[in-house]
Amino acid sequence: MPQTKFLLPEDSLPTTWYNLVADLPKPLDPMLHPGTREPITPADLQALFPQELISQEFTTERTVDIPGAVLDLYKQWRPSPLVRAHRLEKALDTPARIYFKNEGVSPAGSHKPNTAIPQAYYAKQAGIGRLTTETGAGQWGSSLALACQYFGIVCEVYMVKVSYDQKPYRRGLMQTFGASVTASPSELTEAGRAARAADPNSPGSLGLAISEAVEAALTSGGDAKYALGSVLNSVLLHQTIIGQEAQLQMEMAEAYPDIVIGAAGGGSNFAGLAFPFLGEQLRGGRPVRAIAVEPSSCPTLTQGQYDYDFGDTAGLTPLTRMHTLGHDFVPPSIHAGGLRYHGMSPIVSALKEHDLLEARAVPQTACFEAGVTFARNQGIVPAPESTHAVRVAIDEALACKETGEEKTILFSLSGHGHFDMPAYIDYFAGKLKD
Ligand SMILES: *Cc1c(COP(=O)(O)O)cnc(C)c1O
Repeated sequence: MPQTKFLLPEDSLPTTWYNLVADLPKPLDPMLHPGTREPITPADLQALFPQELISQEFTTERTVDIPGAVLDLYKQWRPSPLVRAHRLEKALDTPARIYFKNEGVSPAGSHKPNTAIPQAYYAKQAGIGRLTTETGAGQWGSSLALACQYFGIVCEVYMVKVSYDQKPYRRGLMQTFGASVTASPSELTEAGRAARAADPNSPGSLGLAISEAVEAALTSGGDAKYALGSVLNSVLLHQTIIGQEAQLQMEMAEAYPDIVIGAAGGGSNFAGLAFPFLGEQLRGGRPVRAIAVEPSSCPTLTQGQYDYDFGDTAGLTPLTRMHTLGHDFVPPSIHAGGLRYHGMSPIVSALKEHDLLEARAVPQTACFEAGVTFARNQGIVPAPESTHAVRVAIDEALACKETGEEKTILFSLSGHGHFDMPAYIDYFAGKLKD
């Protein structure tokens, strides 16, 4: 039997991040100031973010050096494995070759520490003592909690109320890593109080929790800054460590992906895996089909408008040109909490407009079905978010079975589902609705 795991030694860890903006066919549209609606300047973002992250937001350099302290922490679990899903291929009886990049091996169980660590590092370098943030299912909150702990920074997390109630274990994980966790909407901010006044039973949303975290940073008198787990150019940049490792690992496997697939909430894990390959293509190299998968209940890329919108509910963040369902959209309480966001990364959105990626929306029961098939063959329970990528990887492999094509499929297993077993239990009990 051919090789199963493709493992890079630690000294092959890439030492730079890759910036797709350098290779885009057209410059990105500028972010706009929420008050004046004029293009924002780096100075406008200083109240929110550390300087180095602001520079990364605007940079058009092709590569950005990864600081040594960040590389040292990455080495606690990176390089992550690239795995050939032999058993899944056999079960599907497909001529396709399926590979997945397993980001579930990180300390928080997902790709999110790839950006949490540099964000906490740059905050520490800038002398910032406190970071505020929001979290949906708790993946991002637990990643930032750990990163802040590594660098001795206080971490305050606003957690979407429905997840706070449904997912006590991730809340516990955040507390274990040293963060304080508040259910959103809360009484601590004006945005939270307004939402509770309008609807005392509000389940909350990511957009609303972002408003609270941003407000908490803006009213801190400079002591606290805000951290965002997806969407921003700098976050996508940090995640490209995934795809750069995968490029080296695909070389070890003497293969190259025809199709690259990722679940898309704000777009960061999809981008992290796909951008290094898309960059090759944009520079005249081998083309890939890149597929971003979203829930049909929150169909940002497939059905959203491509327009300027706020990143949060209250309109405190800059406006970005992106695919959006509207900043007051409250998505249904599906189990893939990390995919319940009204907007999409501006870079991922621009790629869709340039026809450089395909977007697909899938219903959650079909995703859990795929997740169970994957678990029964590969022994890894995917996070509900990641099952969206698994679903499309399986669909593409089944299409190869029809046509007899031996395509190479690479997907992002963005996280494990060990904290999401209630979702699987609901699925088996037939309680999930599409
Ligand atoms: C947060 C999350 C996602 C979605 O976020 P992106 O920014 O689109 O990557 C996907 N999978 C997992 C496991 C997550 O935690």
